[in-house]
Amino acid sequence: MNKNANRLLIIDDEPEICNLFSAVAERLGFDVRTTGEADEFIRLNQDFDPTVVILDLHMPQADGIELLRCLADDKCRAGILVVSGADTRVLGSAERLGANRGLNMLGAMQKPVQLQELRGKLGDAKTAQRGFTQADLEQAIATGQLLVLFLPKVAVHDNGDWSVEGSEALVRWDHPKLGILMPDEFIPMAEETGLIKPLTAFVLNETVTQMRRWCDLGLDINVAVNVGAQLLDDLEFPDRVSDVLAQHGVESSKLILEITETAAMGDRQTSMDVLTRLRLKGIELAIDDFGTGYSSLKQLFYMPFSELKIDASFVLEVAESHEARTMVETMVQLAHNLGMSACCEGVETQEIWDFVASVNCDKVQGFLISRPIDSDSLVNLVREWQAAGRTRKIIDVASERRSRSVVTAE
Ligand code: C2E
Ligand code: MG
Ligand code: MG
Repeated sequence: MNKNANRLLIIDDEPEICNLFSAVAERLGFDVRTTGEADEFIRLNQDFDPTVVILDLHMPQADGIELLRCLADDKCRAGILVVSGADTRVLGSAERLGANRGLNMLGAMQKPVQLQELRGKLGDAKTAQRGFTQADLEQAIATGQLLVLFLPKVAVHDNGDWSVEGSEALVRWDHPKLGILMPDEFIPMAEETGLIKPLTAFVLNETVTQMRRWCDLGLDINVAVNVGAQLLDDLEFPDRVSDVLAQHGVESSKLILEITETAAMGDRQTSMDVLTRLRLKGIELAIDDFGTGYSSLKQLFYMPFSELKIDASFVLEVAESHEARTMVETMVQLAHNLGMSACCEGVETQEIWDFVASVNCDKVQGFLISRPIDSDSLVNLVREWQAAGRTRKIIDVASERRSRSVVTAE
């Protein structure tokens, strides 16, 4: 019996596509099965009972239309995404055909599939599965059901020591019935409905409130807040950010805004205006998930960033893959050559940390240092690191990733 509420079945005859889609889905919390065989697909549909199916329309033994017919005969209730290299009209008619047969069609994606689109569609599928509405999310923002955790960020000093210099604010929804929901489960809905604006305002306000507290405790911690494309279409956003900072008496240089490029990124002139004004106000900007296609070289070229965040998908592979090592090293150099600092996300083991340090990465985040934690735990962590003095050893607890990583003095 499968316990995970999110089960994805992928049928595609290209194993690379299966692997890539699996990696994205697993990061979103799905259990995944893949196959390139029609017979096995039918069997898995019955045994694995997926909540979402990704179906390639071009299969050697049976085409996707035949498979949709089989799913309808099996009274499949999963959400179905069709993918194909065929033009959008073919995809559209496959989707309508499925819907006419009573299947729950989630949409169609044209190959090559943008990973961000896939992430969004899988996030939507989880949302539909979880069963909360736009009104629920609106109420959650208004009534304080959202909470903000902080992912510590450590930085290297000239003498080779590392210290906790800051953190990244990550939102969670403490849903009264469903428990803690992760951002991938509700941010796509917030973006589609415009609720991302009040959500970001909440996160910003909560974060700056905590920053004030840390200052009062004598701790020097900067914080990064994630900002979606829609905020960059709003010319008043920089003023609202500086108002919040001024209200709490927090220095603007302590705030970093993390930005990715998304397909939704609207008017380039407006976003340039917004980003440049944020920089003029002394707020730092980081380009997030660099190297994934959510963030592009072109954007790096045009926008005034001070930090480049290398996506975890590269960093997690450095121990096994020469290509990943080359990519990470090159991205660190690119950041430095453009006068930016480089931060590696997804540092889960000492081996990964050693590698990224050896290629002169300035900052790291990851489960080896800590999982996202609340404000009090962050204060304790910063103090533990300060108490540990100049040398410290990170005990690798990768085998216990589910529990918190441990930091000790040598
Ligand atoms: P992100 O900005 O790239 O945030 C980093 C994500 O990687 C976090 O997931 C974090 O928990 C995870 N992570 C950190 N270290 C490791 C590691 O060593 N290994 C692995 N496998 N993962 C690690 P989280 O909290 O689920 O956030 C996911 C995404 O949701 C964020 O990606 C960000 O794009 C978005 N998000 C989170 N909070 C907000 C928010 O307040 N506003 C907006 N607009 N987006 C947010
Ligand atoms: Mg981020
Ligand atoms: Mg990131």
